[in-house]
Amino acid sequence: MLTVAEVVRQAQAAGIAIPAFNVPYLPMIEPVVQAVVDQNSFALVETARLEWIKFESQGPAQVAAEFARWSRPEHVRLHLDHVPVVDEDDQQVDFLPVFQQALALGYESVMIDGSRLPLDENIQATRQVVELAHAVGVPVEAELGAVFGHEAGPLPSYEELYASGRGFTDVNEASRLVQSTGCDWLSVAIGNIHGAIASGRKDQKKVEARLNLARLEQLAQATRIPLVLHGGSGIMAEYLRGAMKRGITKINIGTEIRQPYEAAVQATGSVTQAQQAVYERTTWVISAFLGTSGLLDRLVSPVMKPGG
Ligand SMILES: [Zn+2]
Repeated sequence: MLTVAEVVRQAQAAGIAIPAFNVPYLPMIEPVVQAVVDQNSFALVETARLEWIKFESQGPAQVAAEFARWSRPEHVRLHLDHVPVVDEDDQQVDFLPVFQQALALGYESVMIDGSRLPLDENIQATRQVVELAHAVGVPVEAELGAVFGHEAGPLPSYEELYASGRGFTDVNEASRLVQSTGCDWLSVAIGNIHGAIASGRKDQKKVEARLNLARLEQLAQATRIPLVLHGGSGIMAEYLRGAMKRGITKINIGTEIRQPYEAAVQATGSVTQAQQAVYERTTWVISAFLGTSGLLDRLVSPVMKPGG
């Protein structure tokens, strides 16, 4: 069986991006897996620290246990999303124990988010996680630049943000971070934005984000590793396609499937109906939005060897 690192490398070579679906509610896992399988695709199921603190996914152990019930390793693998060094509320996080726990639980790839730190401290934290994870053969995603949206305070207007390029990943810094940490994938900020999670804002329609594709191309050339696009929901299709051609190999999808789940629970009180809504939206994301149906057939070698 291919490792996640190998699948992602093959996707990079083929110019395809692998979706990574966030599951802030445990019952979302079953329909996400089912949609990926039915589309003969490949995806990551992922959980971020804020989803077990501010939503209902409970913790890395609970997500891993629920994932194990529906596990289809030829189609889906489990990823640990954002574990920040400093979180969205400016609190320091004791991050190393979270990684130790996730690695022991069998998470197959992990993300350390040092993006709120000065570069040198980001490098230092990322290096610590790379050392831990690589010791057990697990790839590490790092982040550089500011993908806004999770913070509680007022956000700058998207147009202002995009025009100013504030928080966009710097090319020289990216090259330094990758070279001095040995991280495997890099999450970049090029106009993408997270869906708001603050109460009162989390149900709002997400802004239609654009991407600075010229910057992306420079980042891909400078780093030579698979790049990750957070805040995939709501990005305009033309930019999304351009990004996949220029080195984006993993696309995180959160808001797009969270909002239908919450809306269905609110309207019907039925988890089963909410799961159906997640199934339908995940299917749409894979087939229409990202165009990754049949992804397994587009990789050079099979994810699973026959009989393996
Ligand atoms: Zn993110």
